[in-house]
Amino acid sequence: MNRRTLLPLVSFGVLLGATAQAAPVHQHGRAEAALVVEGDSLTLSFRAPLMDIVGAERSPADTAERERYRERMAKVTAPRPAEAAGCELKDERVSGLAELFPEGHDPADHDHDHDHDHDHDHDHDHDHDHGDRHAHHQDLEATWTYQCDHIAELDAVTWPFLSDFPSLTTEVILLLPSGQGARTLSPGDTRLPLE
Ligand SMILES: [Zn+2]
Repeated sequence: MNRRTLLPLVSFGVLLGATAQAAPVHQHGRAEAALVVEGDSLTLSFRAPLMDIVGAERSPADTAERERYRERMAKVTAPRPAEAAGCELKDERVSGLAELFPEGHDPADHDHDHDHDHDHDHDHDHDHDHGDRHAHHQDLEATWTYQCDHIAELDAVTWPFLSDFPSLTTEVILLLPSGQGARTLSPGDTRLPLE
């Protein structure tokens, strides 16, 4: 087995645009993913416009919509590496609803008295912002890390949840011990071949 580390870990963040959080630029219908093999470790990451996941990128208007967002986002579950590779999921991070749209910023919260605790000059404007539809884009981001017993046997990774989001074309960057590559998963494709 080739345990050589081809690329420093930092490449991973750079690939998916670690700085994009501040000013996300994305195209609806386009998801980005990365597959990185380093030693026995497999890291899969995924980023998609929230539009393609929940059908909107603004704060949920009410509790029912918030629940609908939550259900859609919960469909983004861990991809499945080929069984022969013997991979075990070690870590999973998926953007949460609370992180994207903090409860305190819900239009539904307008009834509460936000002003009582902080009487700054800008409170007035600040409060008005709460219910506004955010003009900026929002992404769902996910990262899964696996430890694999037979990583040389990894010939494919299945992303079952992609069938739930048929508007997405997913561009995948591959960083393998054998080199770098790229694949495109068409809408509805869930299997990413590595051979
Ligand atoms: Zn968008």
